[in-house]
Amino acid sequence: MAETVHAEPPLIAGDAVRVGEDGRPILIGSECADCASRVFPPVSVCPECMGENVSPVALGRNGRLYSYCTVHVAPRGWSVPYIAGYVDLPDGVRVFTHVVDAPEERLSMEMEVELTTAVLGTGGDGEAFSSYAFRPRGAESEDA
Ligand SMILES: [Zn+2]
Repeated sequence: MAETVHAEPPLIAGDAVRVGEDGRPILIGSECADCASRVFPPVSVCPECMGENVSPVALGRNGRLYSYCTVHVAPRGWSVPYIAGYVDLPDGVRVFTHVVDAPEERLSMEMEVELTTAVLGTGGDGEAFSSYAFRPRGAESEDA
């Protein structure tokens, strides 16, 4: 069983992300037992059928970039500029996320991306915080 653990810097996504036994992040969504729809982040009421028979489900780590843009203005503490985007997972779930490890000009719609974590800003206590993000698949091995 995967335990909820706190990476350094701490993850701020609450119950929506966990770190698996292999050290890699896992997004946790909700699945509805009545209509089988999946959503992210987790909910207590199904947005499709309004049923309450929902339970946590681990979502896939790989998806495709649906759209993205560079954000220059953000709430205090968030590092700017950053790239925000939507990623479509095979689960049928569309995730709003930061896109990291590549400049905007290297991104393209429908490109394959994978889940990761990244430092996204600094909290009021001066401590850096991190959360889930997506990056182009294979972005970590670009030393060729
Ligand atoms: Zn439902």
